[in-house]
Amino acid sequence: MDRKEYSNILIPNVLHDYKYYEEKYPQRNLDKGSMVTRFAPSPTGFVHMGSLYTSFSDLVFAHQTNGVCYLRIEDTDGKRTVENGVEGILDDFKNLGISFDEDPEKGGKYAPYIQSERGDIYKAFAKKLIEEDKAYPCFCSEDDLNEIRTLQEVSKDRIGYYASYARCRNLKMADVLKKIENGEKYIIRLKSQGNFNHKIILDDVIKGQIEMPENDMDIVIIKGDGLPTYHFAHAVDDHLMRTTHVFRGDEWVASYPVHEQLFKMLDFPLPKYGHIAPITVKEGDKIRKLSKRKDKGAAISYYAKEGIPTEVINLYLATVNNSNFEEWYNNNPDKSINDFTFTFDKMPVGGSLFDIEKLMNISKIYFSRQSGSDIFEKLLPYLEKYDEEFYNIAKNNKEKLIKVLNIEKYIKRPR
Ligand code: GLU
Repeated sequence: MDRKEYSNILIPNVLHDYKYYEEKYPQRNLDKGSMVTRFAPSPTGFVHMGSLYTSFSDLVFAHQTNGVCYLRIEDTDGKRTVENGVEGILDDFKNLGISFDEDPEKGGKYAPYIQSERGDIYKAFAKKLIEEDKAYPCFCSEDDLNEIRTLQEVSKDRIGYYASYARCRNLKMADVLKKIENGEKYIIRLKSQGNFNHKIILDDVIKGQIEMPENDMDIVIIKGDGLPTYHFAHAVDDHLMRTTHVFRGDEWVASYPVHEQLFKMLDFPLPKYGHIAPITVKEGDKIRKLSKRKDKGAAISYYAKEGIPTEVINLYLATVNNSNFEEWYNNNPDKSINDFTFTFDKMPVGGSLFDIEKLMNISKIYFSRQSGSDIFEKLLPYLEKYDEEFYNIAKNNKEKLIKVLNIEKYIKRPR
């Protein structure tokens, strides 16, 4: 049996082959230097300050280079998926008035933008790898994997499915077919060509060069439910959606060797990576990530209730993103974020402490620069939602209220 037939048995009922998808999703017609970025949340149902910060970075770099920033929902991990998780995220962005150039609702040339709707695409590329003997079926059960782990712990070896521990790596075609005939369940693994003793370099646009061992793990690419792992979906989607810059949380740095290898084995050009340091808080003498449950201001919904507009949140995120932004903003009272050029070298390499006082202060500066009538226009819809009594007074006393809002406004240090 040739490998094509073999791959058809291992991954049946695939509608198209990978060449079809390469043609369906051509290179984007953009100017040289235009960045294509993406914000790729799991459908957790809400946007928090940390994820908003990543999306802020995606949006500014794409848009200041006349590029494209799209939203892709990564829902291939059932454990991280919640009910209405996609709607929740889309609603949060809508309420903030933030929009992406392509997203699951408005669509785009590279649709679908929800990974669970892209099943056939991943399978087509997994089949390509099987055909080229770069991927194989693995029949190991949970017990088998535990046994391998125990062996590795006893011999103080690295934990994982690799080299001689990768029991299914060298199964013969005939044995595989027999197992399938017997109804044995399997997943698809990458047949890693890496050597742990070789070094590779991640040339991170934010963090600089980081040296790491090459990947030699036969990682899972297609799971038992037929869906891809994050690693595989990342490679296939960011290639086909023609992403030029992958900005993501720096917890993914450690997985870079897997990704670099996947791109290579799939014959995809490697995008640039920028790993974003998280927004953190100090708890005792420990630094941790911002938590929606524990920290006031971590959930985005907080700001609407407090009357803090999206522009202010963006100004705060701009100060976190580029260390020279704040001074520039203070020195240029008549400019907006769009007039500032963000650069990678001014981005923080380590985590930034979340500072709600600073955010509130930025809010004051922001409002001090607005005319009374501009503030009035923002105030009215806010009051309508949150303070009916004041709303009725404001609505019927527009001129008077604008005069009040203008008190001490046109002085040297406006209030
Ligand atoms: N879906 C991943 C997460 O939520 C995103 C990582 C990425 O942007 O590639 O962590």
